[in-house]
Amino acid sequence: MLTLRDVRKEYGEGESAVVALKGVTVSFRENEFVSILGPSGCGKTTLLNIIGGLDHYTSGDLIIRGVSTKLYRDADWDAYRNHSVGFVFQNYNLIPHQTVLSNVELALTLSGVSKAERRERATEALMRVGLGDQIKKRPNQLSGGQMQRVAIARALVNDPDVLLADEPTGALDTETSIQVMDLLREVAREKLVVMVTHNPDLAERYSTRIIRLLDGGIVGDTDPYEPEEEPAPEKPTEAPVEEAPAEPAAEESTLAKEKTKPKKRSMSLLTALSLSLNNLMTKKGRTFLTSFAGSIGIIGIALILALSNGINLYINRVQEDSLSSYPITINREEADLLSMITSLSNMRSNENEHETDDGNVYGHPVFENLIGTLFSPDITENNLTAFKRFIDDGAFDGVDATVQYGYDIPLTVYTRDSATGDYVSTDIYALMSSVSGNTSDTTTSSYSFSSGFSSYSVWSEVIGGKDGELVADLVKEQYDLLAGEWPTGAGDVLVVVNDNDEVNDLVLFALGLRSKSEMTEILTDAVAGGGNSKKRDKETAPAEKWSYDEILGRTFRTVAPANLYKPVDGKWQNMSGDQTTVNATLSDDNLSLEMRVCGILRRNPDASASEESV
Ligand code: ADP
Ligand code: MG
Repeated sequence: MLTLRDVRKEYGEGESAVVALKGVTVSFRENEFVSILGPSGCGKTTLLNIIGGLDHYTSGDLIIRGVSTKLYRDADWDAYRNHSVGFVFQNYNLIPHQTVLSNVELALTLSGVSKAERRERATEALMRVGLGDQIKKRPNQLSGGQMQRVAIARALVNDPDVLLADEPTGALDTETSIQVMDLLREVAREKLVVMVTHNPDLAERYSTRIIRLLDGGIVGDTDPYEPEEEPAPEKPTEAPVEEAPAEPAAEESTLAKEKTKPKKRSMSLLTALSLSLNNLMTKKGRTFLTSFAGSIGIIGIALILALSNGINLYINRVQEDSLSSYPITINREEADLLSMITSLSNMRSNENEHETDDGNVYGHPVFENLIGTLFSPDITENNLTAFKRFIDDGAFDGVDATVQYGYDIPLTVYTRDSATGDYVSTDIYALMSSVSGNTSDTTTSSYSFSSGFSSYSVWSEVIGGKDGELVADLVKEQYDLLAGEWPTGAGDVLVVVNDNDEVNDLVLFALGLRSKSEMTEILTDAVAGGGNSKKRDKETAPAEKWSYDEILGRTFRTVAPANLYKPVDGKWQNMSGDQTTVNATLSDDNLSLEMRVCGILRRNPDASASEESV
């Protein structure tokens, strides 16, 4: 049912390319238990990934049910991975805070089956692997062997034709390995099971066929298989016993198979989301998706979807793109967003145990849970002191990564107001709270706002290079320097314009090119809902513009928040609301630091990094 013909796989290009498979030709039967044995690095995982459509061959061909995959499009690969193949990995890849049942159900989410049917099929699959009584537990309450059986149930729940297992017993002791192997042998009675292992004993005892791999080539096969007349499309290849005798021509057989297994297409929100994920895999869509995913922390979810959906290649791309604009950040306190989202999406599921079809209607409490997760999310505290020591001890030396850290002190930058000449904070939250009349407490309000909307901040730190360079090559690749020069010291600021050579008015305000009174006017108008007349005026007015020279060399001043505390009646008070104190402090070179625009950048059209910041 599966044939690889002279499959070659190279990673990388040119002279530095690694040849992982050098021309593998092999065919698999409809149902058999194949073990792939070989030393580490000989290409076993690569071979398995190619069979499962997780990775594409460089040359050669993979023939699925008599149909060459050379002409496969992305949608065909997706369908193959989603409906025909199940994967089991060494480390189980279960979602820790979801129940065993949900873990298995998740694999069905993408197949468009109803919630009730998902539950039924997931329960069935779990019973099949002997875990029918553990479905409410969470993975960490199970043993390794049990976790692997959950993973097998998850792989089987879609009823695939092929089960691929990469060292499924690699992390298990002998006894539990045996349980898992028994199960796989059972599965292999009606499916093709291909297992990678480096345990020859288990392979001997359980599998029906052993293929030995060495340096990317097959060096042994205990039970080779030559499908006759394959790939002649007139005759079906090895008509399977269980299927209808009058199987149509092999070319149509994939289609026919789809028909025999009708899939309901009621599309849930998640299904829709994942479908649009697929559609967005084009380069154009990627930029949007990157910012979307980055902004709500959905990359983690996408990763999980990828595991059940097999879009690893794509995820790698998104990771690269998004890490430049949304690097991995470790905060002192972390709210568990994923559990928030899952609790929301699980709102309709019924975890209570009670009879059904007994003539009663049951209550299902969700409100408390919903409000609870939204307003008091699980907060985890990270031990950053230890982590910083870990980094300082060279944890990331030699790794192609940039590490930055900062402290919980907000960067307060002041600009000279174009109308009054006063020093005003460029913090948009301070501005907003000054409009709502609450000037006294800017620090707390900006804190609570910024935790949710930090992407509105106009200031961000430039990612530094590895050997103490101020600007990482990554940044230099993604932006074009339009005027001025790259920063040479502390206090040097870069202005980033968008593709249209624009900066938004938050940035203009920060640059001191829009006065505070103009900003407050816009704000109050917007709050009052009466901004329409103003907007109309703007549309007809010519676009405002400034020359590079006007922007370059603009200065700001920053001050440590502590310097704005002054003793009043023997008590230290925050004087950031007192303009006289602010002006005095910010004119004093001992108390504050001058910053200067040193260059203007424009996002390189090929890059997907964020825009418009200072
Ligand atoms: P095995 O599973 O048998 O240990 P793999 O299939 O993982 O071996 O790897 C085979 C060879 O291909 C190794 O030399 C490995 O370094 C290389 N390789 C695997 N994946 C990649 C990759 N994504 N990029 C570059 N080289 C890779
Ligand atoms: Mg491997």
